[in-house]
Amino acid sequence: MIPRTKQFKKELPQHLKNRVMRENIARAAWLSVQKRNERVAEIPEWEELREKASRIKREVIEHLWENLDIFQENAGKRGIEVFRAADAAEANRLAEDIARKHGIKRIAKSKSMLTEEIGFNDYMQEKGLEVVETDLGEYIIQLAGEAPSHLTAPALHKSRREIGRLFQEKLNVPYSENPEELTALARQVLREKFLAADMGVTGANFGIIESGQIVVVENEGNARMCAALPNVHLAFIGIERLIPRVYDLDLFLTLLCRSATGQKITSFVSLINGPRPPHAYDGPEKVYYILVDNRRSSFLQDEQLKQALYCIRCGACYNVCPVYQNIGGHAYGWVYQGPIGAVITPQLLGLPEAKDLPFASSLCGACSETCPVKIPLHRLLLYQRRRIVEESLSAGVEKAAFKVFAALARSPKLFAAPGRWIGRLQRLLPLQLRAPGWSKSRELPQPAKQTFREWWGKDADGVIHGR
Ligand code: SF4
Repeated sequence: MIPRTKQFKKELPQHLKNRVMRENIARAAWLSVQKRNERVAEIPEWEELREKASRIKREVIEHLWENLDIFQENAGKRGIEVFRAADAAEANRLAEDIARKHGIKRIAKSKSMLTEEIGFNDYMQEKGLEVVETDLGEYIIQLAGEAPSHLTAPALHKSRREIGRLFQEKLNVPYSENPEELTALARQVLREKFLAADMGVTGANFGIIESGQIVVVENEGNARMCAALPNVHLAFIGIERLIPRVYDLDLFLTLLCRSATGQKITSFVSLINGPRPPHAYDGPEKVYYILVDNRRSSFLQDEQLKQALYCIRCGACYNVCPVYQNIGGHAYGWVYQGPIGAVITPQLLGLPEAKDLPFASSLCGACSETCPVKIPLHRLLLYQRRRIVEESLSAGVEKAAFKVFAALARSPKLFAAPGRWIGRLQRLLPLQLRAPGWSKSRELPQPAKQTFREWWGKDADGVIHGR
């Protein structure tokens, strides 16, 4: 996916004008928050679980390189071939090599944000390989030629009417807006794709260090089919997705499922053990993992940003974010959106590419309160803002304004003068004073007749003393 993060500010009005999309997102996000809250209320020790998960992730990330070595070794013992990719280009090249080695023509793929991040589908299709998305939401947006707009619900921005029209146009079927009929239609098409696929591609929610297994969490069963039906299974894994033990799954699945979809547990939780043993009838003959860095290791150098690597990609911070609810996922211009996207995208793509994203937040802190692994998202957004200012990437007007403010703030006399004169001037002028950009959606309030300093400087008789 080609990033459009640089156009964030320019394209924002067009997203804000899309009322249908905004209504779809607001409705879906509200429902998700309600379901999540109900499930969380069932667990009185929820806060302790968050604390524990955060601590476990911190320990894993502190020793990430050693943990990756152990994970790789344990996966190798299961007969799984593991590669490491420094960046997106290497990850795609490795996947292509695997596909060529096995004479692959058709790939069935389940939902994986990492494959979106590295542009896997476009790369493979350019190389002449067919890639079909098998997650219903991903399949819908693949048909529509769009990008996902949410971490766990890629087609969240689409209403069933829009999906009905899309299926009618692309699959040449009668129009329907009945969710069961639409799902059955997609299932019918996708079953044939599964049966024809030579390779299945999945992501991984967790990689278990002690066992070398990966865990895939889903509701449709398509990821399990991708991992089990074709002869070759390839899993892309972000290097930060490790947890120590199988035992920890109880904790992480409790937090992930309740936070992501408001379920106690998803319909399918698959542990990938490796290639099928000689006596087994089904399962892939070959299993590969590609561990992808793609600038994740750069987070490790930064004590603050390191915390973003705890993310278990539940999407709960999207749902509670008032900015996300109003602008939708596409406005962010890349794969990761909402509060976590605004934190990690400037690091993954480089600060100049995504310098506006950390400002897309009201800093209300709802994201930090919701995050099941206690990432202090609103603090990290502030931290990214500071880095942007320190690297002189903020807007010229803003820089000039702060220079003026700094000069005024150094002298009490100078500091007092503008408050007095701007207020008087604004009362005299027939029109409102306007600040570029800022005044597009706001009006400057009418100044008080008496400034705070004047009020403070008055004695009991109302006489103003010089300040
Ligand atoms: S930052 Fe936290 S709330 Fe947001 S997706 Fe990651 S784990 Fe979920």
